[in-house]
Amino acid sequence: MIRKYLYRFVIAISIFAFATLAACAPATAINSNSNNPLNTTAPAATVSNADSNPTAVAPASTSSVPDTGTESDLACSAGSTSASVTPSLTEGPYYKQGSPEQANLYTAGMPGTKLVVTGYVYDTNCQPVANAWLDFWQADANGNYDNSGYILRGHQYTDANGRFQLTTVVPGLYPGRTEHIHVKVQAPQGQVITSQLFFPGVTQNDEDGIYNASLLLSITQTSDGLQGQYNFVVPVS
Ligand code: FE
Repeated sequence: MIRKYLYRFVIAISIFAFATLAACAPATAINSNSNNPLNTTAPAATVSNADSNPTAVAPASTSSVPDTGTESDLACSAGSTSASVTPSLTEGPYYKQGSPEQANLYTAGMPGTKLVVTGYVYDTNCQPVANAWLDFWQADANGNYDNSGYILRGHQYTDANGRFQLTTVVPGLYPGRTEHIHVKVQAPQGQVITSQLFFPGVTQNDEDGIYNASLLLSITQTSDGLQGQYNFVVPVS
């Protein structure tokens, strides 16, 4: 009699254990799903998704192209009719007047990740500013400025639609500073705005005393490097 009940008890325990394992199986599959944001592939080595900056958090997207930018944050996007002037930041010690007029600062064989930045210059009513002057200067991928010549320095003017395009490399770090590109922007007859652009997902952003999240480029990785976007807003008088 005891053996009969013991036999039934063992059978019941076996059925219970099997049912429990079956119920857990789907949870294991979800954890290994490639759509899990924790499995998102990191972008180029110079840009990390590990930044604590909220604008740099990798989206829970199923896209194969990791997008570290926030395109919706672009000034005057989505039909906006007003915007604040782009924040000013210190010029720093490495500005040189007289840069050549060139939108392409990148040359073949230049170390670093190629970067193409596009965007518009607007007035505070979100009207495009044609023929606005933009003067860019930056460190190379090793964090060094060309102070004897004009490598990675150049100015250009927006087209009739207020659009500009800069081809360059992702700047390197130098002591005390996160990755940044210096820029001066000026509407015809307007006040010069001196500022800097930053990169999302860079660990050193939060350690840089003058870092400003509203000056973050919207960055997308491409087959040829990185694509950045930024819209400037300038006073026109
Ligand atoms: Fe600098």
